[in-house]
Amino acid sequence: MTKYFALLPAAGVGARMAANGPKQYLTVGGKPMLRHAVDAFRASPLVAHTYVVVSPDDGVIDSVLPADLDGVTVLRCGGATRMDSVLNGLRALDGRLGAGDMVMVHDAARPGLTPALIAQLIEGVGDDPAGGLLALPVVDTMKRSTPGADGLSVSAATVPRSGLWSAQTPQMFSYALLLRALGSAPDANAITDDASAVEMLGYAPRLIEGHPRNLKVTLPADIRIAEMYLAYKED
Ligand code: C5P
Repeated sequence: MTKYFALLPAAGVGARMAANGPKQYLTVGGKPMLRHAVDAFRASPLVAHTYVVVSPDDGVIDSVLPADLDGVTVLRCGGATRMDSVLNGLRALDGRLGAGDMVMVHDAARPGLTPALIAQLIEGVGDDPAGGLLALPVVDTMKRSTPGADGLSVSAATVPRSGLWSAQTPQMFSYALLLRALGSAPDANAITDDASAVEMLGYAPRLIEGHPRNLKVTLPADIRIAEMYLAYKED
Protein backbone atom coordinates (compact mmCIF):
# COMPACT_ATOMS: atom_id res chain seq x y z
CA MET A 1 0.00 0.00 0.00
CA THR A 2 1.19 3.53 -0.82
CA LYS A 3 2.51 5.43 2.18
CA TYR A 4 2.26 9.22 2.48
CA PHE A 5 4.94 11.36 4.10
CA ALA A 6 5.26 15.11 4.71
CA LEU A 7 8.46 17.09 4.19
CA LEU A 8 8.56 20.71 5.36
CA PRO A 9 11.44 22.92 4.28
CA ALA A 10 11.91 25.33 7.20
CA ALA A 11 15.44 26.57 6.70
CA GLY A 12 14.62 30.01 5.31
CA VAL A 13 15.61 33.29 6.90
CA GLY A 14 12.45 35.21 5.98
CA ALA A 15 14.08 38.16 4.28
CA ARG A 16 10.76 39.64 3.12
CA MET A 17 9.23 39.67 6.60
CA ALA A 18 10.02 42.67 8.78
CA ALA A 19 10.51 40.61 11.93
CA ASN A 20 13.31 39.26 14.03
CA GLY A 21 14.28 35.74 13.14
CA PRO A 22 13.08 33.26 10.55
CA LYS A 23 9.41 33.65 9.70
CA GLN A 24 8.51 29.99 10.28
CA TYR A 25 8.92 30.72 14.00
CA LEU A 26 6.67 33.78 14.10
CA THR A 27 3.76 33.31 16.45
CA VAL A 28 0.44 33.18 14.63
CA GLY A 29 -2.71 32.38 16.59
CA GLY A 30 -0.69 31.47 19.69
CA LYS A 31 1.72 29.00 18.05
CA PRO A 32 4.77 29.27 15.79
CA MET A 33 3.68 29.00 12.15
CA LEU A 34 5.76 25.89 11.62
CA ARG A 35 4.00 24.14 14.50
CA HIS A 36 0.56 24.78 12.95
CA ALA A 37 1.68 23.15 9.69
CA VAL A 38 3.32 20.19 11.45
CA ASP A 39 0.23 19.67 13.63
CA ALA A 40 -2.02 19.49 10.54
CA PHE A 41 0.05 16.56 9.23
CA ARG A 42 0.27 14.93 12.68
CA ALA A 43 -3.52 15.14 12.95
CA SER A 44 -4.07 13.47 9.56
CA PRO A 45 -4.64 9.71 9.77
CA LEU A 46 -3.37 9.43 6.18
CA VAL A 47 0.16 10.66 6.92
CA ALA A 48 2.73 8.06 8.04
CA HIS A 49 5.39 10.51 9.28
CA THR A 50 6.43 14.16 8.99
CA TYR A 51 9.98 15.41 8.38
CA VAL A 52 11.09 19.00 8.95
CA VAL A 53 14.27 20.35 7.34
CA VAL A 54 16.00 23.10 9.30
CA SER A 55 19.35 24.77 8.96
CA PRO A 56 22.26 22.99 10.73
CA ASP A 57 22.74 25.96 13.09
CA ASP A 58 19.05 26.37 14.00
CA GLY A 59 18.81 27.03 17.73
CA VAL A 60 15.02 27.37 17.99
CA ILE A 61 13.61 24.15 16.57
CA ASP A 62 13.98 22.08 19.77
CA SER A 63 11.53 24.33 21.61
CA VAL A 64 9.04 24.31 18.72
CA LEU A 65 9.21 20.57 18.03
CA PRO A 66 10.42 18.82 21.21
CA ALA A 67 12.33 15.57 20.60
CA ASP A 68 9.55 13.47 22.22
CA LEU A 69 6.80 14.82 19.92
CA ASP A 70 5.35 11.82 18.10
CA GLY A 71 5.05 11.58 14.33
CA VAL A 72 7.76 14.09 13.44
CA THR A 73 11.52 14.04 12.89
CA VAL A 74 13.80 17.05 12.42
CA LEU A 75 16.50 16.87 9.75
CA ARG A 76 19.28 19.43 10.22
CA CYS A 77 20.35 19.63 6.59
CA GLY A 78 18.84 22.86 5.20
CA GLY A 79 20.55 24.40 2.17
CA ALA A 80 21.06 27.78 0.53
CA THR A 81 17.75 27.74 -1.34
CA ARG A 82 14.34 26.17 -0.74
CA MET A 83 15.11 23.64 -3.46
CA ASP A 84 18.41 22.70 -1.80
CA SER A 85 16.63 22.24 1.53
CA VAL A 86 14.04 19.91 -0.01
CA LEU A 87 16.67 17.98 -1.96
CA ASN A 88 18.94 17.59 1.09
CA GLY A 89 15.95 16.35 3.08
CA LEU A 90 15.01 13.81 0.40
CA ARG A 91 18.58 12.53 0.25
CA ALA A 92 18.69 12.22 4.04
CA LEU A 93 15.63 9.94 3.79
CA ASP A 94 17.40 7.49 1.47
CA GLY A 95 16.59 4.02 2.78
CA ARG A 96 13.68 5.22 4.93
CA LEU A 97 11.30 5.88 2.00
CA GLY A 98 10.53 3.60 -0.93
CA ALA A 99 10.59 4.82 -4.56
CA GLY A 100 6.78 4.67 -4.77
CA ASP A 101 6.08 6.33 -1.43
CA MET A 102 4.43 9.74 -1.82
CA VAL A 103 6.05 12.88 -0.41
CA MET A 104 3.99 15.99 0.33
CA VAL A 105 6.27 19.02 0.37
CA HIS A 106 4.74 21.87 2.36
CA ASP A 107 5.99 25.36 3.15
CA ALA A 108 6.43 26.01 6.85
CA ALA A 109 4.96 29.48 6.24
CA ARG A 110 1.48 28.10 5.40
CA PRO A 111 -0.12 27.65 8.84
CA GLY A 112 -3.72 27.32 7.57
CA LEU A 113 -3.39 23.76 6.25
CA THR A 114 -5.93 21.27 7.61
CA PRO A 115 -6.24 17.46 7.60
CA ALA A 116 -9.25 17.95 5.27
CA LEU A 117 -7.08 19.75 2.68
CA ILE A 118 -4.43 17.01 2.99
CA ALA A 119 -7.12 14.39 2.32
CA GLN A 120 -8.40 16.44 -0.64
CA LEU A 121 -4.91 16.47 -2.19
CA ILE A 122 -4.36 12.74 -1.67
CA GLU A 123 -7.76 11.88 -3.09
CA GLY A 124 -7.43 14.34 -5.99
CA VAL A 125 -4.03 13.03 -7.09
CA GLY A 126 -5.06 9.38 -6.75
CA ASP A 127 -2.50 7.18 -8.47
CA ASP A 128 -1.55 9.75 -11.12
CA PRO A 129 2.20 9.20 -11.72
CA ALA A 130 2.67 12.95 -12.31
CA GLY A 131 1.55 13.83 -8.76
CA GLY A 132 -0.22 17.08 -8.02
CA LEU A 133 -0.58 20.16 -5.89
CA LEU A 134 -3.11 22.33 -4.13
CA ALA A 135 -3.72 25.54 -6.06
CA LEU A 136 -6.32 28.25 -6.55
CA PRO A 137 -7.72 29.61 -9.82
CA VAL A 138 -6.61 33.24 -10.25
CA VAL A 139 -9.47 35.68 -9.66
CA ASP A 140 -7.74 39.05 -10.23
CA THR A 141 -6.96 40.47 -13.66
CA MET A 142 -3.26 39.85 -14.27
CA LYS A 143 -0.89 42.58 -15.52
CA ARG A 144 2.61 42.21 -16.93
CA SER A 145 4.75 45.12 -15.75
CA THR A 146 7.59 46.94 -17.40
CA PRO A 147 9.74 49.80 -16.03
CA GLY A 148 8.15 53.18 -16.90
CA ALA A 149 10.00 56.41 -17.74
CA ASP A 150 10.63 57.13 -14.03
CA GLY A 151 11.72 53.55 -13.36
CA LEU A 152 8.48 52.65 -11.59
CA SER A 153 6.36 49.77 -12.85
CA VAL A 154 3.72 50.41 -15.49
CA SER A 155 1.35 47.89 -17.02
CA ALA A 156 2.56 46.70 -20.41
CA ALA A 157 -0.05 44.05 -20.99
CA THR A 158 -2.99 42.19 -19.52
CA VAL A 159 -2.38 38.47 -19.24
CA PRO A 160 -5.60 36.47 -19.74
CA ARG A 161 -6.35 34.93 -16.37
CA SER A 162 -8.32 32.02 -17.76
CA GLY A 163 -6.27 28.92 -17.15
CA LEU A 164 -4.03 30.62 -14.57
CA TRP A 165 -3.77 29.14 -11.09
CA SER A 166 -1.72 30.23 -8.15
CA ALA A 167 0.25 27.37 -6.69
CA GLN A 168 0.01 26.44 -3.03
CA THR A 169 1.53 23.59 -1.10
CA PRO A 170 1.44 20.70 -0.22
CA GLN A 171 2.74 19.45 -3.55
CA MET A 172 2.82 15.68 -3.75
CA PHE A 173 4.98 13.38 -5.85
CA SER A 174 6.49 9.95 -5.54
CA TYR A 175 9.81 9.92 -3.71
CA ALA A 176 11.63 8.70 -6.84
CA LEU A 177 10.10 11.33 -9.16
CA LEU A 178 10.72 14.25 -6.80
CA LEU A 179 14.31 13.19 -6.18
CA ARG A 180 14.93 12.88 -9.94
CA ALA A 181 13.20 16.19 -10.74
CA LEU A 182 14.99 18.30 -8.11
CA GLY A 183 18.29 16.48 -8.70
CA SER A 184 18.25 17.38 -12.39
CA ALA A 185 16.81 20.93 -12.16
CA PRO A 186 19.26 23.36 -13.77
CA ASP A 187 18.94 26.40 -11.48
CA ALA A 188 18.02 26.14 -7.79
CA ASN A 189 17.11 29.83 -7.57
CA ALA A 190 14.63 29.55 -10.45
CA ILE A 191 12.80 26.64 -8.79
CA THR A 192 10.30 28.29 -6.44
CA ASP A 193 8.13 25.20 -6.13
CA ASP A 194 8.57 21.48 -6.54
CA ALA A 195 6.01 21.12 -9.33
CA SER A 196 8.09 23.30 -11.67
CA ALA A 197 11.00 20.84 -11.44
CA VAL A 198 8.62 17.95 -12.16
CA GLU A 199 7.14 19.85 -15.14
CA MET A 200 10.66 20.24 -16.56
CA LEU A 201 10.79 16.44 -16.86
CA GLY A 202 7.67 16.58 -19.05
CA TYR A 203 5.09 15.60 -16.41
CA ALA A 204 1.83 17.50 -15.91
CA PRO A 205 0.96 17.44 -12.19
CA ARG A 206 -2.71 17.66 -11.25
CA LEU A 207 -4.08 20.98 -9.99
CA ILE A 208 -6.34 20.30 -7.01
CA GLU A 209 -8.42 23.27 -5.89
CA GLY A 210 -7.28 24.26 -2.37
CA HIS A 211 -8.60 26.98 -0.07
CA PRO A 212 -7.62 30.62 0.61
CA ARG A 213 -7.00 29.70 4.28
CA ASN A 214 -3.84 27.93 3.09
CA LEU A 215 -2.18 31.27 2.25
CA LYS A 216 1.58 31.76 2.50
CA VAL A 217 2.47 34.28 5.17
CA THR A 218 4.94 36.55 3.40
CA LEU A 219 4.18 40.11 4.48
CA PRO A 220 3.41 41.26 8.05
CA ALA A 221 -0.21 41.96 7.07
CA ASP A 222 -0.69 38.28 6.15
CA ILE A 223 -0.45 37.32 9.83
CA ARG A 224 -3.85 38.87 10.60
CA ILE A 225 -5.45 37.04 7.68
CA ALA A 226 -3.90 33.74 8.75
CA GLU A 227 -5.14 34.28 12.33
CA MET A 228 -8.64 34.93 11.07
CA TYR A 229 -8.67 31.57 9.27
CA LEU A 230 -7.00 29.78 12.19
CA ALA A 231 -9.88 30.85 14.42
CA TYR A 232 -11.92 28.35 12.36
CA LYS A 233 -10.66 24.76 12.34
CA GLU A 234 -12.33 24.04 8.99
CA ASP A 235 -14.66 25.95 6.72
O1 C5P B 1 10.97 32.42 1.44
P1 C5P B 1 9.85 31.55 0.98
O2 C5P B 1 8.52 31.99 1.50
O3 C5P B 1 9.82 31.29 -0.49
O4 C5P B 1 10.14 30.13 1.66
C1 C5P B 1 9.30 29.03 1.43
C2 C5P B 1 9.70 27.89 2.38
O5 C5P B 1 11.00 27.42 2.07
C3 C5P B 1 9.73 28.32 3.86
O6 C5P B 1 9.13 27.29 4.62
C4 C5P B 1 11.22 28.45 4.13
O7 C5P B 1 11.57 28.20 5.49
C5 C5P B 1 11.80 27.39 3.22
N1 C5P B 1 13.22 27.62 2.85
C6 C5P B 1 14.17 26.63 3.16
N2 C5P B 1 15.50 26.83 2.85
C7 C5P B 1 15.90 27.98 2.27
C8 C5P B 1 14.93 28.99 1.94
C9 C5P B 1 13.59 28.77 2.24
O8 C5P B 1 13.81 25.59 3.71
N3 C5P B 1 17.19 28.14 2.03
